[in-house]
Amino acid sequence: MTENVVKTEAEWKTLLTSEQFHIMREKGTERAFTGQYAKHHDHGVYRCAGCAQDLFYSKAKFESGTGWPSFTAPVAPENVLSLSDGSGIINIVARTEVLCSSCGAHLGHVFSDGPEPTGLRYCINSAALQFAAIVDDRTKLAQASAGKTEKAIFAGGCFWCMEAPFEKLPGVISVVSGYTGGIKKNPSYEEVSSGGTGHTEAIEITFDPDTISYEKLLNVFWMNIDPTVADRQFVDVGYQYRAAVFYLDDAQKRLAEASREKLQKSGRFTQPIVTEIRQASVFYPAEEYHQDYYKKNRYVINTIAMDQEGINFWTVSGVKTANNCDRPFTYSVCNHYVVALKDGW
Ligand SMILES: [Zn+2]
Repeated sequence: MTENVVKTEAEWKTLLTSEQFHIMREKGTERAFTGQYAKHHDHGVYRCAGCAQDLFYSKAKFESGTGWPSFTAPVAPENVLSLSDGSGIINIVARTEVLCSSCGAHLGHVFSDGPEPTGLRYCINSAALQFAAIVDDRTKLAQASAGKTEKAIFAGGCFWCMEAPFEKLPGVISVVSGYTGGIKKNPSYEEVSSGGTGHTEAIEITFDPDTISYEKLLNVFWMNIDPTVADRQFVDVGYQYRAAVFYLDDAQKRLAEASREKLQKSGRFTQPIVTEIRQASVFYPAEEYHQDYYKKNRYVINTIAMDQEGINFWTVSGVKTANNCDRPFTYSVCNHYVVALKDGW
């Protein structure tokens, strides 16, 4: 038996539908042929709808003609309890109640008229089950090779604060903090932050171009930097905190230059936009403790706007715990753009 899940009746009522509660906690039975898994033949595992314990593999499912999902055996004998009417746990007899061994939910009954190899028929209510598909390795491999991804590299000052605005975007697969733009191989954080390596703190985004475009990422990038300064961002001063777009191919270069020009022409900034756009060089991922720094250090991330296509824009609120990465005027920059977006920017 796995760990016991014990809840009050009131708790189960909030977790389960009224039909599930009636079946699983009051030993009810769904009407034949009405359950969602009566005619269900996908490859996977049926879990307890109350506690998610694995109960039956799809390979043990057979067509009994009864109108209820029927199985020859549970995932493991200890995952279910077979109980006679009120007299305790016994060996399986002609008709025996079947319970989830973890949360005690009533699942159905087991009969001794099943097919080989066990000769048993676990007759289970669909409502007591939740199905989880099992994707085999070959399918996973095919899915991975079919799904093409692209990368984007942006520098926007301190990388701790640049991960958050991108990580939540639909279509963004990963955001890695690192260093790029300089010449020193495998630079350390201390080397980069003390200046002199030529590197700047940057993020490398892996994204699905079918879900989110490079142009969208550029929009979010501009929203999260101050594009009017060349050698610092917010409170972080130095060439190692310069903002930049590091393009990976000609298409990215064209899009980046067009977006910078559009921003300049929009008149949102009275000063010239000086953010550089240059060819990407080697991107060196930063030390592990820098990755997801804002999560590890409980930055508060706020949604500030949503454009017409429903893409969330996020900003670091400036709440911080243990570093000098505060961006006191991120809000004003971003609010500026919220207005701009409403104007159709
Ligand atoms: Zn359960």
